[in-house]
Amino acid sequence: MSAHTDEKAARALLVRTARSLFTRSLTHGSTGNLSVRLADGTLLLTPTGSSLGTVEETDLSRTDLTGRHLDGPRPTKEAFLHAAFYRARPTAHAVVHLHSTHAAAVSCLADLNPADALPPLTAYYAMRVGTLPLLPYHAPGDSSLEPLAERTARDHHAVLLANHGPVVAGASLEQAADAIEELEETAKLHLLLRGHATRPLTPEQAAALAPTFS
Ligand code: ZN
Repeated sequence: MSAHTDEKAARALLVRTARSLFTRSLTHGSTGNLSVRLADGTLLLTPTGSSLGTVEETDLSRTDLTGRHLDGPRPTKEAFLHAAFYRARPTAHAVVHLHSTHAAAVSCLADLNPADALPPLTAYYAMRVGTLPLLPYHAPGDSSLEPLAERTARDHHAVLLANHGPVVAGASLEQAADAIEELEETAKLHLLLRGHATRPLTPEQAAALAPTFS
């Protein structure tokens, strides 16, 4: 399912994916949030203050594309980031944001390349993530980040928030979740390899695999 046309199925998939990410420790406590875009253009998001491990299908928030709350519990305070990604990427139908440990650790390193925070260490990273711009630190819920997030998302489906974690959009929730897991694994490899001479993919090898989807 890429368009999330059936709301009941979309709610079930959102909760299933949230639980899967949480139970595998890809985010912790009440961090991380997921959303899907429905066929009517509204967004279903995980609510504020909820744990991805216990969120229920009936607990989801609905907003419009400006992030305005329409029904359900209050959305995550990072809802503006989700809305910015959907406005920037008409083909995106899902957004996943995590505080996954290794990607969050990389986001705290000094001297990151703001245009691309991780090297293309593996083919799957080059295929599913590609380049990873770093957005400067903002306090959680500080919506002054919104214009920059929207501009950056026009050319990139994945970004890393400094001292925070990744945000990844996809044509489907499965695709967005797959890509953010690949990002987390590459962040882990990158940290494991620090201090070792490393051969990332060449620019040509990475370009040949660059993602073309939303
Ligand atoms: Zn966050």
